[in-house]
Amino acid sequence: MPELPDVEVFRRYLEQHARGHRIRDVHVLNPELLEGVDARHFRERIRGHTVSGTHRHGKYLFMDLGDDLHVVLHFGMSGYLRKLATGETPSRHTRVLFDLDDGALAYVVPRKLARIGLVSSRADLIAAKGLGLDALDKRLDLDTFHRLLTGRGTLKCALMNQSLIAGVGNVYSDEILFHARLDPRRALATLDEREWHRLYQSMQQVLKEAISRGAEPERLPQGWLLRHRRAGQRCECGGNTAHLSLCGRSAYFCPACQH
Ligand SMILES: [Zn+2]
Repeated sequence: MPELPDVEVFRRYLEQHARGHRIRDVHVLNPELLEGVDARHFRERIRGHTVSGTHRHGKYLFMDLGDDLHVVLHFGMSGYLRKLATGETPSRHTRVLFDLDDGALAYVVPRKLARIGLVSSRADLIAAKGLGLDALDKRLDLDTFHRLLTGRGTLKCALMNQSLIAGVGNVYSDEILFHARLDPRRALATLDEREWHRLYQSMQQVLKEAISRGAEPERLPQGWLLRHRRAGQRCECGGNTAHLSLCGRSAYFCPACQH
């Protein structure tokens, strides 16, 4: 499921392949994925605009079409973007096709849980979705991180709570806690100062490193949990990883390394 590193990689892709290009037309192949706008208005409002920039907040990606018009893309469980080569047939999972002046950009979603829409301001969308600060926002220093998360239950659930900090989901919360050597079930109230510091540093480091490696699991360092997210897999310490259900999701961790 695309989380902050994946969506940041999509943003960079969009920046490289769409910025500065004019949208000649839009084909909405699955109108049920549109949020807050019907296919006709979506097409009419977008057509003719030039992509002026890109932004990301948590797991949401914005394609700016000027100061007061933004396409909002959410990727659900498995979505991605693809600029088609000349003559390339769009994948059958393409839901929206942007016909740019130099080729087509496909919004591809194999499992239809994703959403695409239009907003007049990014702040409106962030408020409407109740999103907290982006996990890599420069304003999110250790003190702010501490203040936002204090008293918010257990570690994994709090990291995944998009209203506290936006961008971290199931996979990266496990990775961050593995790097911080903290048990996902622990209450935030039990962390001492050094552990808070470790948690914060691990979040920054894991997210940035994942982005720099294109958020591709096979390019991530060998020792990372993400490379072998299965119960009973061997951790670098020699112990086996364990699996349990936490906040409605599957958590993986190493009981020998994480306390
Ligand atoms: Zn271990």
